[in-house]
Amino acid sequence: MKLNQPEVEALLKDVGAWLEGHFQLTSGMHSDQYVQCQRIMQYPRHGLMLAEALAAKVIAAGLRPTAVVGPALGAVHWEVYVAQALDKEFAEIPVRGIFAERPEGKFEIRRGIELEPGEEVLVVEDVTTTGGSAQEVIKLVRSFDAIPVAVGAIIDRSGGSIDFGLPFMSLVNLQLASYPPADCPLCKSGKPVVKPGSSKLKV
Ligand SMILES: [Zn+2]
Repeated sequence: MKLNQPEVEALLKDVGAWLEGHFQLTSGMHSDQYVQCQRIMQYPRHGLMLAEALAAKVIAAGLRPTAVVGPALGAVHWEVYVAQALDKEFAEIPVRGIFAERPEGKFEIRRGIELEPGEEVLVVEDVTTTGGSAQEVIKLVRSFDAIPVAVGAIIDRSGGSIDFGLPFMSLVNLQLASYPPADCPLCKSGKPVVKPGSSKLKV
């Protein structure tokens, strides 16, 4: 399954995932645009289609991860769709989809789920801006002596500035403006900022 950039962009718009307003991103930066990937992920057919496109890149790179780990809440659902897409390809080995969460500020995998030493792991997130969350998940994976083999995202809005020290695969590159809060023109205009993903988001 291959998807080109205009096809993914059209899907983001069709499902109302591409929002305009004044947003504080997870990275702390402000922006006038935000992509709310859960609006796609609520549709398994769309989530799986994107996951198959990412899985095709992972397989083309010769990688065979048996676990897909992503940071909650952004990567919840996405990590399972990607695991499902890989599972279909690697019929003989079950592929797991696992989310990492931050109950006390640091990412953990809870509920007795563990990664195996030496297990190859694909780290996924929905949108990569600074890559901070993915970096933390890479560290978490290594804490199990498992091996992160690549990072996969739906959207790369980093402008190519990220080096995970691993292959980084994304389905679209979006060059959306973002600003440090002190230089944010939307803050200067007095428009209230919303933190997407929190209960304060009203769109
Ligand atoms: Zn602002």
